[in-house]
Amino acid sequence: MYEGVVQDLIDELGRLPGVGPKSAQRIAFHLLQAEPTDVRRLADVLIEVKARVKFCSVCFNVSEDEQCRICRDPRRDPAVLCVVEEYKDVVAIERTREFRGRYHVLGGAISPIDGIGPDQLHVKELMPRLASGEVTEVILATDPNLEGEATATYLTRLLLPMGLRVTRLASGLPVGGDLEYADEVTLGRAFAGRRSAE
Ligand SMILES: [Zn+2]
Repeated sequence: MYEGVVQDLIDELGRLPGVGPKSAQRIAFHLLQAEPTDVRRLADVLIEVKARVKFCSVCFNVSEDEQCRICRDPRRDPAVLCVVEEYKDVVAIERTREFRGRYHVLGGAISPIDGIGPDQLHVKELMPRLASGEVTEVILATDPNLEGEATATYLTRLLLPMGLRVTRLASGLPVGGDLEYADEVTLGRAFAGRRSAE
């Protein structure tokens, strides 16, 4: 345990995903030794990102406006909707340049162990988007792991009776991993070779 505010800093850093107690200490001491202007820049960007960045009211992508850049873009195909877990998956898929439709960001995946079910995700907001009849195909691009599979299976059962074409990414993605870690070529191929969900 360290004195007052230093320990507070270590505690706060330790709450971040992927930062264990040792890393939290290392980052804290790095910040203590850093130039005040460098630390100020980090602090400013943390405050600014929370003040400026919101979530798109339509697809829950990260956005600086009411609607994100992709939802606002009239050149995007309104007939194809790609369902992903997180904002970072949108970034990964956009990098492949294989997809010209729009997205729906769930905000996570079904994980009973963590107490996350469909109600904790943006599933209910997905339904009105499909009700208009504009969307004809839903691509389920959840992570190739247990939670991602469970989420895709749940959504397939929900969406197929609506008469939509429901597709999954082709196999070839590293199993157990995150979509965002797949390289562009692999992810691009998985998109191009997508298959109907059963
Ligand atoms: Zn959007």
